[in-house]
Amino acid sequence: MAHSLVAPGRPLPSGIIKINSAICFVASESADTLIATKQIAELIYASDDEDDDKKTHSLMEPVLVACPLPNAIIMPSNSLVIFTDLDGTLIQHADYSYNAARPLLKKLQSLAIPLILASSKTRAEIEVYRKRMDIKDPFIVENGGAVFVPRGYFRSMGHRAIIKDDYECLELGKPYTELVAIFNTLKKRLKLNMIGFHQMDVAKIMEMTGLSVEEAARASQREYDEPFVIVGTDSLVHLATLKEMAKQQRCKILKGGRFYHLIGSSNKGRAVRILTQLYRESYGITKSLGLGDSENDLTLLANVDVPILVQKADGSYDPKILEKLPQVMKAPAPGPEGWALSLTEQLHRL
Ligand SMILES: [Mg+2]
Repeated sequence: MAHSLVAPGRPLPSGIIKINSAICFVASESADTLIATKQIAELIYASDDEDDDKKTHSLMEPVLVACPLPNAIIMPSNSLVIFTDLDGTLIQHADYSYNAARPLLKKLQSLAIPLILASSKTRAEIEVYRKRMDIKDPFIVENGGAVFVPRGYFRSMGHRAIIKDDYECLELGKPYTELVAIFNTLKKRLKLNMIGFHQMDVAKIMEMTGLSVEEAARASQREYDEPFVIVGTDSLVHLATLKEMAKQQRCKILKGGRFYHLIGSSNKGRAVRILTQLYRESYGITKSLGLGDSENDLTLLANVDVPILVQKADGSYDPKILEKLPQVMKAPAPGPEGWALSLTEQLHRL
């Protein structure tokens, strides 16, 4: 069945009903077109036949569950957009679970609040979490290296967007091959024992991350960010020099939960600003909230209205973020538990 997307503000083709002031729907070329909105939790059948009264079938939530619409994009109808880091924030640092956040993830969906995953992870890795969490909103990959937006999600993405599979993509970071070349130059000049992802095979990535073989393979599909470790006790002494030398190459070194990251001039904050602007233009969404746990979330937190710093597994908070963003709200627990507790509290306030 062919599907097409009805963008907000555009005329609705025959057979499509607009529900409340909402949102955006799946249209098919068949006579019976299914339109779903999770916000009102009911299914409406639309018919191409003008004489056929538009039938509203309430109390059909089980059908909605039983008949997922794979190509449906539920468009935001709320006035809030949420940006969140993954590792150590929405998912556990140690075992990548997010059980504590599941009920709230469902609630955000029912409220049609867009949730933007913004991680150092690759597109291949984030796609798996989007699927597991049933999220259909845009996402930010590799520390802001690119923004991936489902096609037709926004009215316009601007001329810089390129089509990549089912997405409109804004590439903000340096290409990976360039980063690897710069990494090797820095390593040679500083004579540091740095090991980058491009030097690690899948088994090594599994050993360093605890990921499964499939997950490690997805983690290695890098496009805009080179994670690395520095081996040796004097790594901190060299870090300042390394950062300075990276700057001369128009790059940055960021610290994530497990690795340092070499990236171009992109960062999560720039990607957040771009998406915030697109949400404002397409949906009138004006309020943003962000959650993160590590230094590489600083720019994300600095570019949202309500920044929340999630506790680390040892109960501490990232000192760099506390120093640079003294107004940041502190989640009362680590990982997904802190994510859910702090976000629930803020949703009640907003
Ligand atoms: Mg993190």
